[in-house]
Amino acid sequence: MHGRLQDAPSIPAGVSVAATPLELQLHIDQRRPPCGLCDCRQQKTCGAARVGCSRRRFRALRPLSLLLIASLAVLFASLSASWMVCGNRLPALRQPSVPGRGWNHRLHVWDQLVSAVLGSPTPAPAPPPRPTPDTPLPGGPDAPPGFDSENVELTVLRYPHPALRRQNQNVVAFDGRLRKLADNLFRSMYAEDDGTGLAAPQVGVNLRVMVYNPEPGSTESETVFVNPKIVEYSGIADIKTESCLSFPNMRGPVKRSTWIKVQAVDWDGVPFSRTIRGMEARIFQHEYDHLDGVVYVDRIADSVLAGLQPNLDLLKEEYVKAGGQNPAT
Ligand SMILES: [Zn+2]
Repeated sequence: MHGRLQDAPSIPAGVSVAATPLELQLHIDQRRPPCGLCDCRQQKTCGAARVGCSRRRFRALRPLSLLLIASLAVLFASLSASWMVCGNRLPALRQPSVPGRGWNHRLHVWDQLVSAVLGSPTPAPAPPPRPTPDTPLPGGPDAPPGFDSENVELTVLRYPHPALRRQNQNVVAFDGRLRKLADNLFRSMYAEDDGTGLAAPQVGVNLRVMVYNPEPGSTESETVFVNPKIVEYSGIADIKTESCLSFPNMRGPVKRSTWIKVQAVDWDGVPFSRTIRGMEARIFQHEYDHLDGVVYVDRIADSVLAGLQPNLDLLKEEYVKAGGQNPAT
């Protein structure tokens, strides 16, 4: 039974009234149970249920909510596990470069980000401190005093110093002395104009240690290689002009592979491998040659080298005049 509201002095239970032309229906049957979606007792015809019953919305969203919560839990567990496992290994991965520089800086930013969310990982058990022996590293007969001590600027030797041609030994002692040597190599390199790389024999230390920084204006790309070995050369090579701190005031074209694969250890003796490309590959090969007693003029074509001979003769004169002994060829 239906009727307009204004026509009904009283509305008996169980009667629905069409209140407006928009067919809004008011259900007043108090005997009906709650609609099951909310407490409104409007059941299937409940207008509130159609347009926004809170329980209905919750039911619709519940599967998505559970899925979202489960995904967040899995993500959190994965991050926690990787952070706890890998977080303790990252310091070892950083060692090929100077800590806090280069890609290590990006790792540091990632550390900060993950730490902010998950907190710091359980620190790896600290290795026992290794005392720095008083005896210097075995750097050879021309190793300058204090070359592996703190903050020592070393003199870059010039052609034809015999240390440039001497055999260089692999490093076997990995302790604080090696880090100090690497720092001193960087310090000595930056003291020279346009220095982008330096090998230990260039300062009279006949050990297989080399450093370089393709971007000397920034410390981001500082890199240290100990006992490096090139295990693969690219089939493609190019020719570019090079210079060397041991051959001042001259330069010449050298053919080099455009990329190389390298194995080495860091200054803690941890092995790593790397593929190096472009200008960095050229710098690496130049410094790597020094570790084999090879200098870049050895790779310059004879026709070009003839034009550089006056420069080489002048360097020999200066070396002898300064009291240098046993000039190398
Ligand atoms: Zn050089």
